Amino acid sequence: MDYQSNVIDNCVVLLLGILNDLKGMIMLIPKSMKAALLKDYHRPLELVDMPVPKPAEGEVLIQVEASGLCFTDVHIWKGEHAPPTLPLIMGHEGIGLVVALGLNASRLKVGDRVGIGYVYGACGHCRDCLTGGENYCPHFDATGYSVHGCFSEYVCVRDQWANKIPHGITPVEAAPLMCAGAAAYASIKKTGVQVGDTVAIFGMGGLGQYAVQISKLMGLRVIAVDISTEKLVTAKELGADETVTAGDKAGERIIALGGAHGCVNFAPVTSTWPIMLEACNPRARIVLTGVPAGEMAFYTYQVVERGLTVVGSSASNRQEMNELLRLAAGGKVKGVINEMPFDDINTALSELIEGRVEGRIVLTMKGADF
Ligand SMILES: [Zn+2]
Ligand SMILES: [Zn+2]
Repeated sequence: MDYQSNVIDNCVVLLLGILNDLKGMIMLIPKSMKAALLKDYHRPLELVDMPVPKPAEGEVLIQVEASGLCFTDVHIWKGEHAPPTLPLIMGHEGIGLVVALGLNASRLKVGDRVGIGYVYGACGHCRDCLTGGENYCPHFDATGYSVHGCFSEYVCVRDQWANKIPHGITPVEAAPLMCAGAAAYASIKKTGVQVGDTVAIFGMGGLGQYAVQISKLMGLRVIAVDISTEKLVTAKELGADETVTAGDKAGERIIALGGAHGCVNFAPVTSTWPIMLEACNPRARIVLTGVPAGEMAFYTYQVVERGLTVVGSSASNRQEMNELLRLAAGGKVKGVINEMPFDDINTALSELIEGRVEGRIVLTMKGADF
């Protein structure tokens, strides 16, 4: 009798344990979700109910917790960077939880917190993909551009491309790292500077602010350059060693401070170009990340005699994203963030277009638990 009841007890304990594990694994996924649809350029996004997408092979379904707004979204919204098809759900700075796995999506598990960046996926076998330049692959698909993005409650992403978010970074802090932070990190890396070298960072908007903090974590000496005194004060608070007001004497001033071994331009203006040329030490690299509309001219000797290199930088690859997330773990990279509810997405878009925000806007989802 005793033996029998013991067996029954053990079975009950085992069953309860299995049920508990299942509860943790199964997340309730509704049939429909709220999404912000871009139907026509220059028109407010339409908040609609639409079916929750099903993850295809190699994809995972993410419940979005936070979603950053980026200036690329404005270019898409205006039709200046027209996507292949409309209507479209924009958004490529998303953080959320994995809630379902598609076939052969085995890298992640349900409950993982992941980040969604601009590159949805690349071909994986061209020269660029195989040599660390997957973000320059001629055949890459972009999240929130060629496929639906994360201005919605749920989004499907490729499991090989979702980035696991380390502990100690909140979804709101992590969201802008997916594009702005990663672009800033990749740009600083392209300067090729070594620990102790000086990097001059031009433009103290969202990317510049990330670049200052990242450079300090990488052991660099930082000179922050901007036209706004206010922004330079923020740069100093974020760790910049020196600040220089952009203007006629800025190049001379940087040289007086020891010159730059690398310059990065995030400012969307061409007026920083002659300053950078003047501020460079021999063999320095100038990295162009901001995209001003005008031309940047130079006398050949300015580049030749000092052996300068000028290089462009756009987005980041997965390795750079992982390196950034490791640097930022524990909340060591802080953005200047304006948090707004997802329902206010059109107000957020107007504020970004009219330049009324400092730093980045992050939309948070109702019901997201963090
Ligand atoms: Zn972006
Ligand atoms: Zn490729």
